[in-house]
Amino acid sequence: MRRRGLLFFWSTGSPHEMAETVFSRIIRRELPAQIEYEDEEVIAFRDINPQAPIHVLVVPKKPIATLDEAGEEDIPLLGKLLWVARQLARQYGIAERGYRLVLNCGHEAGQTVYHLHLHLLGGRAFRWPPG
Ligand code: 5GP
Repeated sequence: MRRRGLLFFWSTGSPHEMAETVFSRIIRRELPAQIEYEDEEVIAFRDINPQAPIHVLVVPKKPIATLDEAGEEDIPLLGKLLWVARQLARQYGIAERGYRLVLNCGHEAGQTVYHLHLHLLGGRAFRWPPG
């Protein structure tokens, strides 16, 4: 038993790769969400606890836990997240006045859901530096 436990431990390369998140469940329609955009690679939905009048999460369907765990093969997908956020900002009419994109990577940044996502925040003025 002990040896099987150790083998299991060694076989998990990433601390996050086994974790199921609420975002995977939203992608599979097992949890409700206000979906704002979707294609074969990306989904965007309203944050459940909005920090601004517009607060949308832009999420790759591929379950990458953090930006740090993205691979070189994910470069086009990472670019697409920015592009979808830009398109949504235009759609919401906040492109001209400005908006903020946030990507929290890891616990010190405050990441709470370990499925890579970009926050699109707009509709109010933001301070700098962030807290
Ligand atoms: P993080 O802190 O990881 O950068 O951001 C996670 C975000 O996901 C938070 O802003 C949080 O409010 C949002 N969130 C957590 N659970 C749910 C959920 O079940 N549905 C939606 N729409 N957003 C969620």
